[in-house]
Amino acid sequence: MDLVEKVKSAGVVGAGGAGFPTHVKLAAQAEYFIVNAAECEPLIETDKYLCRAYAERIVSATEAVALHLGASRAVIALKAKYEDEIGALKAAAAKAGEAIEICAMPSFYPAGDEQTMVQFVTGRSVPERGLPLNVGAVVDNVGTMLGIADALEDLPVTDKFLSVTGEVKAPVMLRVPIGTSVVDCIANAELTTDGYAVVVGGPMMGKLLADDGEIEAAVVGKTTGNILVLSKEHYLVKRGAVPFERIRHQSRSACIQCRMCTDMCPRYLIGHEIRPHLVMRNLWRENSIASDEEYIRCFGDALNCCDCGVCEMFACPMGLSPRRVNVYFKQRLREKGLDKERNMAPRARPSLKYRRVPTERLIARLGMLKYYGAHVHGAHIEFVPAKVYIPFSQHIGRPALSKVKEGDAVTRGSLIAEAQGAVSANVHASVSGTVEKSDARGALIRVAGGGDGE
Ligand code: SF4
Ligand code: SF4
Repeated sequence: MDLVEKVKSAGVVGAGGAGFPTHVKLAAQAEYFIVNAAECEPLIETDKYLCRAYAERIVSATEAVALHLGASRAVIALKAKYEDEIGALKAAAAKAGEAIEICAMPSFYPAGDEQTMVQFVTGRSVPERGLPLNVGAVVDNVGTMLGIADALEDLPVTDKFLSVTGEVKAPVMLRVPIGTSVVDCIANAELTTDGYAVVVGGPMMGKLLADDGEIEAAVVGKTTGNILVLSKEHYLVKRGAVPFERIRHQSRSACIQCRMCTDMCPRYLIGHEIRPHLVMRNLWRENSIASDEEYIRCFGDALNCCDCGVCEMFACPMGLSPRRVNVYFKQRLREKGLDKERNMAPRARPSLKYRRVPTERLIARLGMLKYYGAHVHGAHIEFVPAKVYIPFSQHIGRPALSKVKEGDAVTRGSLIAEAQGAVSANVHASVSGTVEKSDARGALIRVAGGGDGE
């Protein structure tokens, strides 16, 4: 099997949050291969941990992928302040004799946004709604590289590293089987609050779960890199509960058209046509717009939004929500079957380097300074629960097709759902045990021997 086949067989998907099947991305030739180790979301520790603990595996996989892509430049990009991680990666590259460049980035959000990173490393702006490959680059997250390193040894994706932080006594780095419940992960870090909400991912782009039932049902998937526990009284939780109609009214009454949301938008800064202040200006008259052309002119910019949240969590002095308004219009444009012409050759705006959001100031703005720096560097904890629920759709594309039924005995690493079609990914048993329930959406497996959670 060649590299792409091995990666496909192992079920590797983008570990940084997107979940795009990696074998599809790697079926290409590119000038640059960039490993994204910037970990730009505040409070997440996972990518840094992987760089320190598995530098040699990351370097060897980087070299293998760069060779496969025919890339003349293999770059690992991370923040200059990650000195230990840079030291570990440089030492691993020197030991292996590999010509891998380390690109040290300033500490800003969203340094790890794929298009922001490509612009920083190559000086080229990715076309609107385009791919890094359009400008000769392929980008993979550092966690994905570890998955590729395993795949090259015929080991499928079964486990996930993730940090647990926030309202907990002891923030931890965990390694758990895919399908471990979020509640089990939090228990390992010792909860310090009663009623709580959870952000799966980082505070800017993660998925907020405020409902107890949702939290109970949530499990670790291939893209889960962090669990942030928050009090239900936290600003972020309360903000997430604001209904859209109230946002619509607020926009009409309180938007002062200062255009800070536009001037600080990372996609605007790399040259894309996105001006959230204009979307906000026109929101109130949405229902009076009759022609499709005018609808696109007023709201089509929303299609270029990457949901980074800079506009609403940092830029807007009035506490308004341009991101949620953009999410709304993306959906409306889809429903109406409307699209906006793409700028295929954007050019970064001259103000780009002066408008980056410093990570520390962002953390303060989010009201999360008390969690910052609480994570102590050390070894990870291995935890195996009594049961796992493994979804068959942990990736972009078609869900994998189940190959198991109730009562089946499975072993860790065995294929339990097979990729369907061009964009999909295999799913493997993350533990050895017995299938208790299975349907088209996933399988519940009881762990042989009871696990650590029994
Ligand atoms: S969320 Fe806001 S800042 Fe981010 S890309 Fe969208 S409009 Fe721009
Ligand atoms: S930053 Fe806020 S107040 Fe200013 S234009 Fe944007 S939405 Fe309106």
